[in-house]
Amino acid sequence: RPVILWFRRDLRLADHAALYHAIKTNAPILPVFVFDTTILSQLSKEDRRVTFIWESCLQLHEALIKQGSKLHILQGDPRTCIPEFAQAVGATAVFCNRDYEPAAIERDQAVAEQLSTFDCLLCDFKDQVIFEKDEVLTQAGKPYTVFTPYKNAWLKKVTPFYLRAYPSKPNTGQLAKVTGYDWMPLEALGFEPQPLATKNVFSGEDGAEKLWQDFIHRLPFYHQTRDFPSIKGPSYLSIHLRFGTVSIRQLANFAMHDSSSGANTWLSELIWRDFYHQILWHFPHVVHSSFKAEYQNLAFPNNQAWLDAWKKGETGYPIVDAAMRQLSQSGYMHNRLRMVAASFLVKDLLVDWRLGEAWFAEQLLDFDLAANSGGWQWSASTGCDAQPYFRIFNPISQSEKFDAEGKFIRRYVPELANLSNKWIHAPWLADRQTLEIAGVTLGKNYPKPIVDHATQREAALALFKIAKG
Ligand code: FAD
Repeated sequence: RPVILWFRRDLRLADHAALYHAIKTNAPILPVFVFDTTILSQLSKEDRRVTFIWESCLQLHEALIKQGSKLHILQGDPRTCIPEFAQAVGATAVFCNRDYEPAAIERDQAVAEQLSTFDCLLCDFKDQVIFEKDEVLTQAGKPYTVFTPYKNAWLKKVTPFYLRAYPSKPNTGQLAKVTGYDWMPLEALGFEPQPLATKNVFSGEDGAEKLWQDFIHRLPFYHQTRDFPSIKGPSYLSIHLRFGTVSIRQLANFAMHDSSSGANTWLSELIWRDFYHQILWHFPHVVHSSFKAEYQNLAFPNNQAWLDAWKKGETGYPIVDAAMRQLSQSGYMHNRLRMVAASFLVKDLLVDWRLGEAWFAEQLLDFDLAANSGGWQWSASTGCDAQPYFRIFNPISQSEKFDAEGKFIRRYVPELANLSNKWIHAPWLADRQTLEIAGVTLGKNYPKPIVDHATQREAALALFKIAKG
C-alpha cells in the first residue's frame, strides 16, 4: 500500500524532510498538491503568488514525470480532499512538513482526525525552520521574547546535525502514480497567469538556485549593502523561503561556514525568521492582537483617506511613496523601507498596524504570517522586542541616510526625477523656482505632504502615553 507525500510550503525535491521519511518506509510514494479553495477563493484572480505556486508545482510535476511519477493535483478543501484521496488509493500514511500558522494547525488536526477513521496516519516533520516550538527555550523553560538572547541560545544549540541536508533522492521506481488527478492549467483554477519573469521573479527550485548563485558573491558585503534600497544588497530569497523552493538548512549551513561579516549578519536575519516563527507558535494571538497587552487598546483615529494615500504611494513623502510603489509594482519591498513605511503609517498617519499588515499580506509575494506580524508589531512598538514607542522614524532623515542620492526615489517616483539630491527628500521645502525648473508642481503632479511629521510625532507620542495609562 502506498504512502502520500503532501506538498504545501515546501515545493522542492532536494533536502526535503517529509520526502526523506516517506522514502524510508520503502512503500510506493504518491506526491500530491492541493489547490486549497478555502484560501484561493479569497484572493484576486491576478494574485501573483498563485502564478508562483503554480509554476513551482509545474517544475515539481515535470521532475516527477521523469521519475515515472507525477504531481497529483487536487482542488478543494484539504480537510476533505486529502482524506478522500488517501482512502481512494488505500494509503497507510500521509507525509508532510509542519506548518506553524494557527489556521494550518487547525487544518492538519482536522485532516489527521479524518484519516484516523480508516487507520491512515498523518506524519508531519520539521522542515521549514532550523528550530521549532520548544527547541530553544530560556533556562526557566519559557519561550524567548527578546531576539538577542534567543539568537545566542540558537547559536549555542545549533550543531551540524540540525543543518545537515536530508538525502531525499527516492529509490528507483519508488515514486508512483495513479490515474486521474491530472495537471491543471492556471486558468482552469480561475486565475490569470502573471508575467513574473518580466519582474525578475523566477519560480521553483531553479529560480531559487539562480538567486542563490547570484547572491553568494555579494554575501561577504551584505552587512554594508543591505540597508540601501537602490543597491542590490539582499538576497531576494524571501519568496523562495516562503514557499520552500529552497531549503533553510542549505542557506543557514552555508552562512554558518562563511566567516565574513556579511555572512554573519545574514545568518542573524535567518535567525530572526526562526524567532518570529517560534513567537507565532507560542503566542498565536499576535496575528490579531498586540503582543504587549498594554497596547491592545491604542485609539488609532484610522483616517481612511490617509490610509488610501499610503497604499497608492501618494503621501507626499518621497521615500514612503517610492516604497509603496515598489510594493504594488513588484510585490517586493526592501527591508529598510518596510520599516520606514510601516512606521509612517502607524506613527505619522496614526493608522492601526493591523490595516497596514493586511495590505502587506495582500501585496507581498513573500507574505509570511510570522514575519509580517512580527515586522509590523516591531515597527508599531506593540510587539515583542519592538522598537520603543518613543523612537519614531523621521521619513526625511531616513531618506537622506539610506537613499542619499535619491536613486531609489527617482526609480519609483519619476515625477521628482529632476529635483536635486538636496530637495528630493522633502520637495515642499524647495522654493517655487527650484520646483518649476524641475517640472514639479506640488498638489498637481506630485502631492503636497498629507501630514506634518513634527505635529504627527507629538500626536503619536500622546496616543501611546494614553494607552500605557
Ligand atoms: P535578506 O536580507 O536576504 O534576508 C534573508 C532572509 O532572512 C529573508 O528572505 C527572510 O526569510 C529572513 N529575514 C530577513 N529579515 C527578517 C525579519 N526582520 N524577520 C523575519 N525574517 C527575516 N519577511 C517575510 O519573509 N515576509 C513578510 O511578510 C515580511 N513582512 C515584513 C513586514 C515588515 C513591516 C517588516 C519591517 C519586515 C517584514 N519582513 C517580512 C522581513 C524582511 O523585510 C524580509 O524578510 C526581507 O526584506 C526579504 O528580503 P530578502 O529575501 O532579500 O532578505
